[in-house]
Amino acid sequence: MILLKHIHKKFKNNHVLKGIDLEVSKGDVVTIIGPSGSGKTTLLRCVNYLEKPDEGTISIHDLTIQTKKPVKKDILQLRRRTAMVFQHYNLFENKTVLENVTEGLIVAQKKSKKMAREIGIDILTKVGLADKINAYPQQLSGGQKQRVGIARALALNPDVILFDEPTSALDPEMVGEVLEIIREIASGGVTMMIVTHEIDFAREVSNRVVFMDDGQIIEQGPPDDILIHPKQERTRKFLKRIM
Ligand code: ATP
Repeated sequence: MILLKHIHKKFKNNHVLKGIDLEVSKGDVVTIIGPSGSGKTTLLRCVNYLEKPDEGTISIHDLTIQTKKPVKKDILQLRRRTAMVFQHYNLFENKTVLENVTEGLIVAQKKSKKMAREIGIDILTKVGLADKINAYPQQLSGGQKQRVGIARALALNPDVILFDEPTSALDPEMVGEVLEIIREIASGGVTMMIVTHEIDFAREVSNRVVFMDDGQIIEQGPPDDILIHPKQERTRKFLKRIM
């Protein structure tokens, strides 16, 4: 469903992605792990063009973007088919929880306010925030803010949700509640790509783990193959360091 071919990205002379090939099928939950600075977040941001790749193609279903000659309307289409959950939530501080969730439905998807409200309340109830719909982000805990971020992504009903280290800004006692929501969504068959440092979570939630180092995919496969029986020395070293 998502096919990345030969993706390269440089920031000035820092060659951050060095030819990434990756396929994600419908319903896959793919976690991306690797050392700090290996390019995980940049790869995720390239999938929805928050970063513009220098080379390669991005396909999602029948839509293909040649990153050397991208067509503007195709990029808009790509963005509509993806939703991102950010490490630092990126909520509108001057909007209520419900407005944060309905904004994209009204502005990007042209849904009526009534319809957007119904969808918003339904999804906020699913993530356990029915009693917070009229609160503002500064009245929420980090875990609650991230649940709003997840509700906002889910409401858009995208082809894939991209999670960029969704728990790394949270206090330890709030990590569990956010992982639990992600786990629930994953079991519902939503396609996801998740950059994470939570190895136990990656093992449990994903059907494929991708290990990146120095801008390349070193190995990928079912969680136990990569996390318990890695083939590559670099993967072994990384796991030894963090576990
Ligand atoms: P971490 O686990 O620490 O979040 P990561 O694997 O997600 O790391 P990236 O955040 O993708 O790594 O960063 C890869 C490299 O790209 C780093 O050297 C970083 O400094 C650089 N980089 C990322 N974004 C930018 C940017 N907007 N401008 C310049 N350099 C950037």
